[in-house]
Amino acid sequence: MGKKFVYTFHEGNGEMRDLLGGKGANLAEMINLGMPVPYGFTVTTEACNQYYDDGGVINDAIVSEIFDHLAELEKLSEKTFGDPTNPLLVSVRSGSRASMPGMMDTILNLGLNDDVVEGLAKLTDNPRFAYDSYRRFIQMFADVVMGLSKGKFETIIDDIKAEKKVYLDTELSTDDLKEMVKRFKAFYHAQLHEDFPTDPREQLKKAVEAVFKSWNNPRAIYYRKMNDIPSSWGTAVNVQMMVFGNMGDTSGTGVAFTRNPSTGENKLYGEFLMNAQGEDVVAGIRTPNHISELRDVMPEVYDEFVAITKKLESHYRDMQDMEFTIENKKLFMLQTRNGKRTAKAAIRIARDLVEEKLLTKEEAVLMVDPKQLDALLHPTFDQASLKHAVAITRGLPASPGAATGQVVFNAADAVSYAAKGHRVILVRLETSPEDIEGMNAAKGILTVRGGMTSHAAVVARGMGICCVSGCGDIKINEETKTFKINGRVFKEYDYISLDGSTGNVYGEELKTVPAQIAGDFEIFMSWADEFRTLKVRTNADTPRDAKQALTFGAEGIGLVRTEHMFFEGERIKAIREMIVAKTKEQRERALAKLLPMQRGDFEGIYEAMEGRPVTIRYLDPPLHEFLPTSSYDITTLADDMGMEVDELKGIIQGLHEFNPMMGHRGVRLAVSYPEIAEMQTRAVIEAAINVNKANPEFNVVPEIMIPLVGEVAELKYVKDVVTKTADEIIKENGVKLDYLVGTMIEIPRAALTADEIAKEAEFFSFGTNDLTQMTFGFSRDDAGSFLNDYYDKRIYEQDPFARLDQKGVGKLVEMAARLGRETRPDIKLGICGEHGGDPSSIEFCHKIGLQYVSCSPFRVPIARLAAAQAALRNK
Ligand code: PEP
Ligand code: MG
Repeated sequence: MGKKFVYTFHEGNGEMRDLLGGKGANLAEMINLGMPVPYGFTVTTEACNQYYDDGGVINDAIVSEIFDHLAELEKLSEKTFGDPTNPLLVSVRSGSRASMPGMMDTILNLGLNDDVVEGLAKLTDNPRFAYDSYRRFIQMFADVVMGLSKGKFETIIDDIKAEKKVYLDTELSTDDLKEMVKRFKAFYHAQLHEDFPTDPREQLKKAVEAVFKSWNNPRAIYYRKMNDIPSSWGTAVNVQMMVFGNMGDTSGTGVAFTRNPSTGENKLYGEFLMNAQGEDVVAGIRTPNHISELRDVMPEVYDEFVAITKKLESHYRDMQDMEFTIENKKLFMLQTRNGKRTAKAAIRIARDLVEEKLLTKEEAVLMVDPKQLDALLHPTFDQASLKHAVAITRGLPASPGAATGQVVFNAADAVSYAAKGHRVILVRLETSPEDIEGMNAAKGILTVRGGMTSHAAVVARGMGICCVSGCGDIKINEETKTFKINGRVFKEYDYISLDGSTGNVYGEELKTVPAQIAGDFEIFMSWADEFRTLKVRTNADTPRDAKQALTFGAEGIGLVRTEHMFFEGERIKAIREMIVAKTKEQRERALAKLLPMQRGDFEGIYEAMEGRPVTIRYLDPPLHEFLPTSSYDITTLADDMGMEVDELKGIIQGLHEFNPMMGHRGVRLAVSYPEIAEMQTRAVIEAAINVNKANPEFNVVPEIMIPLVGEVAELKYVKDVVTKTADEIIKENGVKLDYLVGTMIEIPRAALTADEIAKEAEFFSFGTNDLTQMTFGFSRDDAGSFLNDYYDKRIYEQDPFARLDQKGVGKLVEMAARLGRETRPDIKLGICGEHGGDPSSIEFCHKIGLQYVSCSPFRVPIARLAAAQAALRNK
């Protein structure tokens, strides 16, 4: 027998997630736990991969396996697919290993056609229900399988409601719904030049195929890239017997979380609607009831549901997000999964579960996604500026945080305006999966419709972006790009502010203040610190950044980019003088002006770090980056230097390089102009002596780092300049001062000859930004323009500048670390490229035995947690 591609729910279990997807595995598991789940089967993720391997066709073997299982489902349900006298209807839902917004989600009521709907009407004695189900099915099928926009169907619904002068869907009569079906089908035909498919088996095949296809739609690809999900996982498809929440007042449907997904509070949280189906709860058209009200409507069902939620949570030992339907007073569970939650809730839940003895500390540390912590590090509103602000309206506090920005009205505008460096707030009637990129680009999201479980709310929480949803007072006009609230009109680019923790909306720009690590967050981070072995340093160029990083738990500085200090005020003048100097004396004069400034900077940084290690990297970028370009600046510089303008222009032209990234930069500058290294050494050493004098307890030990080395002899040449200068200063001052000289490994040749380089270098810091650039041979500044084609064509799945390419660049890093240790067993090894703040790259650093990672201040907590998880996963 060949591979098995379809499993009934009864054959599966919770361990089979890779094969059955999260939804399928959990449905199977709920059945194993004896819970009421409608019968069904799962088409596996391997079938999805097979579909792609076969060139986008579901092969005959899989098709016949699907229909065999359908026959079994008919037996179990005692109903027949396509039989008007006793019809089986099914739902078709996608379900990959990780829950993924952006993919095809759900088709309900599949199996209906003109005959079956009549049969269903008779059988249930409820024609309104039958036609309500039918119109929903046509709309969902047309939208998700055939790609017709939902909007037009909504317009047809609105037209009929207007004609009938009713407000709610539930007020429409059977005849109205019949008319709706007619118009839907006419629209379907007009758009697609074919009739709506009447053969239920054809409907099913098409729906399964649509799920497979949705695995590779642009939104799903974008989401995978954002969340490190490989395309090779594929998605499963769940086909399940329908149960109906829209059968009348004793039926209903809802979604609930075992704990509050916004705050983490241990209290059942959710919403339901009576006489409704699937999407109604999240679509935000009718306002749902709070889950606790179900107790009054149907006490037995409520008690049964609560008992199930408790059992599920202790079984999965995590907060659950569940969907249920009540059909004629009988409860059915349609889904359970570990619920998405805000970062704040994630921390609180992790902590509470340890206190409730459901989890160990290790397990709790492993359950929080490090990237999610980012949301906790964002600012909140400054209390003083809030005092005078008056909220213009209030919506639901869907995803916490504070956001200020300029209003835009669609996802594309959000992406393009944010790319220009603006803070944007995306204001929408409601959001849908195609808005995902715009939502990610926005600082905050405001929607008119939708509850706490609406698309906007769920997705924003997952992304850690502030969101206020269900702000019904707002009258929005997406065409004219305006919205109105209490008579006040807001246009595109007007400022507003959102408080995602209270739901308040302010019609102005408000000041924000930085976050702090305190309370639950602090305790959780202390647990993470117990387990990690990697140290976490920061990349900081100013005392202010250094202090910020310290409050986030940095244990040192892994990279001070000294050139960043040269761009400010008067300094740029001095550096320009140094660059265009014609003689060594001229250059030394300019360097003498820079010396006190650099020394002052380093003193500030040493003081801020209070004796923790500080790695100072010498001048790195190509010199022309500092040169004047405007004619005013050129004339001024020529005047200052007593030079002719034309002569200066000649010098500037002479500094032009075709490939500056591979040009006169890094260690090469110090080889050509050793006086630069001398000045920087003087600043580093004198600053350390001064700070140690004032604060002997700090005992600063500077780490001097030479960039862009590719050959041991060039390192030795510059190192000799450094040690000669440093030793003289130390001697002159009559003090004792230790210091280290090391290098960055950021050129492939340095990695290849790391054993030789380690003879001179007391430490290596992997500069994986340049190392990635030089290994791939594409520019870190320009690759963005074509890498998107690589992601679209799935040649690369991840940005190698954001996530370390372990296969290629990682091989060089690992080899260099090994060679370095062979020569110098106690060599210090760290990383300071952007990858030092990326969780999967951090795990790699842990595995190859680096001592520390260094990242930007705001990523320090993320790195601390990722390092702890790496240690726990690789015990
Ligand atoms: C690197 O190349 O990884 C690095 C940290 O240096 P920079 O980004 O300054 O080139
Ligand atoms: Mg570099």
